[in-house]
Amino acid sequence: MKVTIAGATMDRRFWKDDKAATPETISAAYARISHSPKTIPALRDMSVNEVEKARKSNENIIYKMGHSSVAEHAVFNIDIEDASRLLVEFIERHRLASFTERSQRYVFFGDKTFVIPKEIAGSDLGSKVKDLEEAKFQLYNDTVSNEVLKEKFGDKLLEQARYILGLTCPTDIGLTINARETEYIISQGMAHPLLEVQEFAKGLLEATGSLAPSLIKYVEGNFHVQQTKDEISKMLEGMAKFRLNEDGKREISINTSESAVCSELPTPSDDPESEVVAGLIFENSDMSLDEARCMARNMTDDQLLDILLPVFKNYPVHASLPRAFEMMELTFDFDISASGFAQLKRHRMATLLSQRYDPGFWETPDVFMEDKGLLMTYWELMKRSRELYYQIREEFGPEVAQYVLTNGHKRKVIFKTNMRELYHFVRLRSDHHAQDEIRRISDMMVGEMKKHFPMVTSMLCGKDGFDEGQRRILGCEAAYEEEELS
Ligand SMILES: Cc1cc2nc3c(=O)[nH]c(=O)nc-3n(C[C@H](O)[C@H](O)[C@H](O)COP(=O)(O)OP(=O)(O)OC[C@H]3O[C@@H](n4cnc5c(N)ncnc54)[C@H](O)[C@@H]3O)c2cc1C
Repeated sequence: MKVTIAGATMDRRFWKDDKAATPETISAAYARISHSPKTIPALRDMSVNEVEKARKSNENIIYKMGHSSVAEHAVFNIDIEDASRLLVEFIERHRLASFTERSQRYVFFGDKTFVIPKEIAGSDLGSKVKDLEEAKFQLYNDTVSNEVLKEKFGDKLLEQARYILGLTCPTDIGLTINARETEYIISQGMAHPLLEVQEFAKGLLEATGSLAPSLIKYVEGNFHVQQTKDEISKMLEGMAKFRLNEDGKREISINTSESAVCSELPTPSDDPESEVVAGLIFENSDMSLDEARCMARNMTDDQLLDILLPVFKNYPVHASLPRAFEMMELTFDFDISASGFAQLKRHRMATLLSQRYDPGFWETPDVFMEDKGLLMTYWELMKRSRELYYQIREEFGPEVAQYVLTNGHKRKVIFKTNMRELYHFVRLRSDHHAQDEIRRISDMMVGEMKKHFPMVTSMLCGKDGFDEGQRRILGCEAAYEEEELS
């Protein structure tokens, strides 16, 4: 497996002259747009003339101030050669990147050299794996060179024969990825149980880290992911016993006072909390979705929390929660000003539907409430905007009329997302750094959610509430253990 950086986004002035040949200057320039009144070209000049200052600025804005999205402006193109199918699965699990992979449907793979995984290579089983892989290639080659089969299957022959190729079979991928996602893949890979994946993560770090050191910085392994999976798997072993019933189907019995056999397929939507837990059970066991759902739906609140606790305990404040939290879909509808909408729309992992701004409906910020004169003028301007809106609408239509409205004018929106993204949203927007209006909305979402779904929302809070939340939840766990012992 080989990782080569093939290209990167760079300021076009330096394609010929490599004075500041790093994509970091673009990130730094764009990051400064937020706080500086300078023009964008002037900011780009500043960055390329002082690369070290640009790097410092990236570090401040991305890591100290937490605006990680700035790192998305730097993009790498990476050649990945000779990756096993398992490595490809790891790489392509990351959804926010672009891939083109050599296809086993169209390309002959019989001349490839498989690599025995390093974990096995040194052991007694190494030679058995080698024999088996050779036999697989032999069958593949015999099949694709068989004239009768060629005649019968034509273009479909490679597609059919590939089923015998091993997961060790190497392939190549072209990967285009931004620095934020690159850093994430490296951290995930460093803590991955497969040596090949760890080696890939190191190769990716080597290829990108020297080119953009201020963007590829926090690359320590995300060990909390595997630790959490291990803890949940262990807990499940203790909670469920698997046995076959008379029909040869597996029946689950859980250590609860009530029997927990499902007679029909549970619909997920009427019990969304258990849907998240079912996702965790599914990923950390060999149960079918039906079985995992059935088990989760029959759990007591304490048992649900038991399964969730390893996540809440091990995942650090900046980490995205496991994808099982995406099993819970949420739909909110509320009114928001144009100013609040400007922030809401930046959350891309959501479905956002909106109506036009309502000319007769606006937010009045606290600052104008402080002074009667200012307040009267504010309202007066709002009313004038409303009147002019209707006049313009008459002549030019409602789209154009919107121009006379203000950041204070409101619209109705539907914000549909999942619990994983809601956690991310609330970490940022219920934090004290967030602007008042969106914080108020975020806090209201938290309140509603906690009322209905107290288990999965146990750690739903802004970044500044994280430590206290974790102390509370760990305190609960300790108290619970004491109770169990006594
Ligand atoms: C206090 C505060 C001040 C802010 N100030 C400014 C400002 O001055 N100017 C400004 O422009 N913005 C500002 N923002 C917006 C901010 O930069 C983000 O755009 C916004 O918060 C959305 O967050 P996000 O990008 O983490 O996540 P989302 O879009 O909600 O995505 C969720 C997660 O998906 C992943 N993700 C999504 N898309 C990508 C991608 N393309 N590549 C890699 N990973 C991805 C990330 O892990 C991300 O955390 C501010 C935000 C806050 C909270």
